Amino acid sequence: MIQTDIDLQPLNTLAIAARAAHFARVESLEQLREALAFARGRKLPILPLGGGSNIVLTGDYPGLVIHMELRGLSLEETPEGTRLSAAAGENWHRLVMHTVERGLGGLENLALIPGKIGAAPIQNIGAYGVELRDSFVDLQAVHIATGKLCEFSAADCEFGYRDSVFKGRARDRYIITRVRLELPSDWRPRIDYPALGEYFARREQGAGTLTPEKVARAVIAVRNSKLPSPDEIPNAGSFFKNPLVDADLYHSLKKAHPDLVAFAAGERWKLAAAWLIDRAGWRGRQRDAVGVHDRQALVLVNPGRGPGAEVTALAAEIAADVRAKFGVELEPEPRYYP
Ligand code: FAD
Ligand code: NAP
Repeated sequence: MIQTDIDLQPLNTLAIAARAAHFARVESLEQLREALAFARGRKLPILPLGGGSNIVLTGDYPGLVIHMELRGLSLEETPEGTRLSAAAGENWHRLVMHTVERGLGGLENLALIPGKIGAAPIQNIGAYGVELRDSFVDLQAVHIATGKLCEFSAADCEFGYRDSVFKGRARDRYIITRVRLELPSDWRPRIDYPALGEYFARREQGAGTLTPEKVARAVIAVRNSKLPSPDEIPNAGSFFKNPLVDADLYHSLKKAHPDLVAFAAGERWKLAAAWLIDRAGWRGRQRDAVGVHDRQALVLVNPGRGPGAEVTALAAEIAADVRAKFGVELEPEPRYYP
């Protein structure tokens, strides 16, 4: 079951050439436990891999890559709506389409996000004002050190903005095997993001005529109009999180740059990282094999299939420039390995 020296280039959406010293394709809990025992016996580090759409491979991986291919999906009616249980290896976008095609709402704004169910809680995936936590019930995970199965409620997951306990205290300690979501029976469309509102306004469709599937189709059309498909131009989506800054910094930036794009987020302000990068002059710039997408400055692209070091060097240069020009710290969203 364990393979050695495996090419990871087809398994990461930045198409970075890198190899895994050890690799296991896992389709059941039993295979997962066997893979974990193999790694434990050799004291190998572990990289749980879904669709590879939120990682940057900075070199060959010296440990065990566990490719999560557990399958299974079930829907169940409850008094509140529909409860959905999906195994970690199911494709996220296909799950969204499976629900909207049955008239079930709740996940439509999250259409076309690449990757698998098992990775969705890691950063509490979000788009167009909706996050995974809005429909999350609980998840099942295997504790890496002991192989024991455990459950995490929504509170246990400590979801935040593109964040969860799995990026903090529980980082590298669990492998998620199953996620349960609840889709409400009293669905209402969430089309307050300008791009979605404008899409329906142009077609003269009011909120009352919308269905989950219509919203999903709109999200797909809007995303396709500005975000590069990794199949055509390798990328990892938004490379930086939108920074949350305190009110003092926001007000001083807004005074200096009246067109700054920012949104109130509780007591803090969320700045559009794309605006900062664009205004610093990076949109469309190319450096060796890598570059900054010309329609969305938050997306770093790798058309020349360069090494991870080129991607991280460009990201570091952009972050340093934004820090120098605006005094704002940009934090990469994808995780770097090894
Ligand atoms: P991977 O890249 O395989 O893994 C990501 C991290 O999760 C790694 O640290 C990995 O070890 C860990 N991991 C994966 N599976 C498991 C598991 N079963 N158990 C424990 N740890 C695990 N994200 C958004 O939030 N919103 C968006 O709108 C969005 N749009 C995107 C658009 C594009 C074009 C691209 C390329 C990416 C986009 N992303 C977006 C980022 C990415 O798709 C999500 O973060 C997605 O959830 C990653 O899934 P994955 O299976 O590819 O994860
Ligand atoms: P957009 O709609 O052009 O918006 C630009 C930025 O402004 C976004 O980052 C968004 O923040 C913020 N924003 C816009 N309207 C807002 C509102 N009403 N309230 C609060 N914040 C608002 O963004 P885009 O690049 O085309 O992406 C569309 C959506 O898909 C966004 O939600 C984005 O996060 C998501 N997406 C994520 C990734 C990824 O890899 N993480 C990749 C592609 C797209 P938020 O980002 O916080 O929503």
